[in-house]
Amino acid sequence: MEVIPIVVQSMTNTDTADVNKTVEQVAALARTGSELVRITVNNDEAAKAVPEIERKLKEKNINVPIIGDFHYNGHLLLTRYPECAQALAKYRINPGNSDTKGRDTNFTTIIEQAVKHDKPVRIGVNWGSLDQNLLTQMMDENSKSADPLSAREVTINAMVESALRSAKLAEDVGLGHDKIIISAKVSGVQDLIDVYRIIAKKCDYPLHLGLTEAGMGTKGIVASTAGIGVLLQEGIGDTIRVSLTPKPGGDRTEEVQVAQQILQSMELRSFTPQVTACPGCGRTTSTFFQKLADDIHGYIREQMPYWRVKYPGVEEMKVAVMGCIVNGPGESKHANIGISLPGTGEDPKAPVYIDGKLDRILKGGNIAKEFHQILDEYVISQYQN
Ligand code: SF4
Repeated sequence: MEVIPIVVQSMTNTDTADVNKTVEQVAALARTGSELVRITVNNDEAAKAVPEIERKLKEKNINVPIIGDFHYNGHLLLTRYPECAQALAKYRINPGNSDTKGRDTNFTTIIEQAVKHDKPVRIGVNWGSLDQNLLTQMMDENSKSADPLSAREVTINAMVESALRSAKLAEDVGLGHDKIIISAKVSGVQDLIDVYRIIAKKCDYPLHLGLTEAGMGTKGIVASTAGIGVLLQEGIGDTIRVSLTPKPGGDRTEEVQVAQQILQSMELRSFTPQVTACPGCGRTTSTFFQKLADDIHGYIREQMPYWRVKYPGVEEMKVAVMGCIVNGPGESKHANIGISLPGTGEDPKAPVYIDGKLDRILKGGNIAKEFHQILDEYVISQYQN
């Protein structure tokens, strides 16, 4: 059976109506490796901009599928702007936000547009905007139960129920079973794990994983990795997004790099050669090996756009940069190329291992440059078509 790779998704934070800025950011996300990019379609200007964004991306040879994110007025925008409905590769609807009154009518209208334009739909339930009527009804029923569940459990069950009811309604309207993707985003790791475990047991729709509002920096990265990692390990999840909050003016592509790193660390996919470096300890008091590890990392990142095309398979390469000979040679032997730098008091020599065998010993002030050269030679000899 063909194994379908888990797909990396991201989302822009530009004003969609600003075509040039949105194109620029979608292109940056796609070039970093985002395989699906979501943009908000929140008003008439944004809906009008979508076909133009699509056209400009094609001119740049960026063919990443664009998902339109709709809340409250999706039924109006998709009906009013058929070119927008056609240009998008997928629609994301939050059933809790498809309207306040007449929700089913508006939800149905969006699904009819998806059927008409032959588009898949992600039914994306969100903890913060859960269908309040459904939640109230389930809370009431729970309160009458002889053995009531906690409010948290009822909320999780309501999310699952909302997603599955909406999926059923979409199928009743005529959307194919294979055109539906489900997500149920929450901001807590344990909640995420629980809600997806339940959904995965109850349906066979593809699932999109991610924390909503994961947060900034280390917190956002660690929380996303913990939640997504547990689920992926259990075989749950088909697409992932790491919803990091960038610093003002920060790099939006970080969320793509983190998503790729989660998949690569779990050995589910390979995107870029991995550099293993020891943490350093009292045996290596100089910062030389840290600088070399960082330098190799940067060098690989710079080369990858070119290497990826010219040397297929290079993304599987493993490089080790170690701080002394205690663990250095052992770790180096497990990598394709490994170097152990001299620790404090050790001979100023850096043994280099290639495919598990001692290849040469570097000395003197040119170790970094010589190691780049060894890396280049290895890539050419092993991965050239
Ligand atoms: S390889 Fe050497 S320097 Fe690095 S952590 Fe181990 S003992 Fe310390």
